Amino acid sequence: GPSGGPFSRHGIGRGRLPFSVVSGEDLAAFERIVPGRVITDPEVLEASNVDWLRMVRGSSVLLLRPRTTEEVSHILRHCHERNLAVNPQGGNTGMVGGSVPVFDEVILSTALMNQVISFHDMSDGPVCPCGCGAPSEAQASVQTLPAQRPQWPQWVLADGMVLNCLSTLRKDNTGYDLKQLFIGSEGTLGVITAVSILCPPKPRAVSVAFLGSLCWKMLGEIVSFLVCSLLWGNQSRLWGQSPFYVLIETSGSRAGHDAEKLNDFLEQVLSSGLVTDGTVATDHLKVKALWALRERISEALSRDGYVYKYDLSLPTERLYDLVTDLRVRLGPRAKHVVGYGHLGDGNLHLNVTSEAFSPSVLGTLEPYVYEWTAEQRGSVSAEHGLGFKKRGVLGYSKPPEALRLMQQLKALLDPKGILNPYKTLPAQA
Ligand SMILES: Cc1cc2nc3c(=O)[nH]c(=O)nc-3n(C[C@H](O)[C@H](O)[C@H](O)COP(=O)(O)OP(=O)(O)OC[C@H]3O[C@@H](n4cnc5c(N)ncnc54)[C@H](O)[C@@H]3O)c2cc1C
Repeated sequence: GPSGGPFSRHGIGRGRLPFSVVSGEDLAAFERIVPGRVITDPEVLEASNVDWLRMVRGSSVLLLRPRTTEEVSHILRHCHERNLAVNPQGGNTGMVGGSVPVFDEVILSTALMNQVISFHDMSDGPVCPCGCGAPSEAQASVQTLPAQRPQWPQWVLADGMVLNCLSTLRKDNTGYDLKQLFIGSEGTLGVITAVSILCPPKPRAVSVAFLGSLCWKMLGEIVSFLVCSLLWGNQSRLWGQSPFYVLIETSGSRAGHDAEKLNDFLEQVLSSGLVTDGTVATDHLKVKALWALRERISEALSRDGYVYKYDLSLPTERLYDLVTDLRVRLGPRAKHVVGYGHLGDGNLHLNVTSEAFSPSVLGTLEPYVYEWTAEQRGSVSAEHGLGFKKRGVLGYSKPPEALRLMQQLKALLDPKGILNPYKTLPAQA
């Protein structure tokens, strides 16, 4: 079972469900379906058994690497017949322990499904199988922005049935929008094997501004229309002394026009005294370096000690209140209480670190953080999903009727419950 963190201490609420155990005959059957891509070497399996944050660990003995939808279908048909539990896995970078097994589920990896299937003109976009480290690999092929919009997926249901709804149409109002059902299902309703993606043309000009600011709220009001991330700068010598940092990216087709707009904005915030320091980049390497400051916050936090992670959606004007409140509540028991995220989207990544896992810190944080969020009519998961770690708190953001309907849909699409068990939906009493 999982180890290192609260999970090993509190268990997962119940034991392994009565799925079959992988047998020699199963291995032979899988070898016929995906020859040479049936992995049982414990050293190779290690990376797929542990999540990116190294907080959840499973003990699967089998990793399968299909290349095609047909192979995924044959694998699932076999697992369904044999009652073997399956854990779909993509890049294994998820934050909620959804991508690694809890016990010995078979790991079905899409890592080799990484070729762009077809590519239409700019108005349509590419059709990509799911192992395309989207957007990076797909992007390399089609030269587009990461702001791609998934259109229609192709997926394989728990019993191996292939549902091909792939389409590059922009509008399609024929029946229920099944695509939406699969968004957020986190591998519990089916395995997605391809998506078509609508891509805007690659922007000709990209500017990134990195600003130090004195104040969260006023800045939020000014820049919330832009794509921005509020960064944690408090303790960083590299970043100087400002209490808050903001990363703003603008993209467009006319460099001169975009620069003029950004400069107007910068002049305004500098003269208001809100922004005390800053830098602007248009050069590709410098843009990348500035974004790295944002991208590596998670990694830096992991090195600070044990991390209690929350990913909340809140009204923008209340976004930072919980951070200051928790600093007072936790006092010296917390090493750091850090808030960063996507200011324009009202998405707060709240992270608390302590020397080692502490039940007392956890007891102060939970259920307080979830109750506080529910009072604001916020969401307990803005973008990370529920996975294994957060499945018990779904009820703070959805009414009991919605939970019941989700359970019913799960039972309809995966009657044996073999797909990503112990994930997303709360354990049924
Ligand atoms: C440094 C860092 C920065 C991040 N920044 C952001 C951010 O800005 N915005 C944001 O939204 N997220 C962010 N994340 C989290 C992000 O949600 C995940 O990293 C990423 O989306 C997960 O993709 P993955 O392929 O690694 O999926 P995995 O972690 O492999 O899987 C995630 C879930 O999807 C399921 N799954 C995987 N493949 C399939 C499939 N083919 N069919 C059905 N189910 C499947 C898994 O079972 C699991 O439940 C960040 C993560 C890291 C490490």
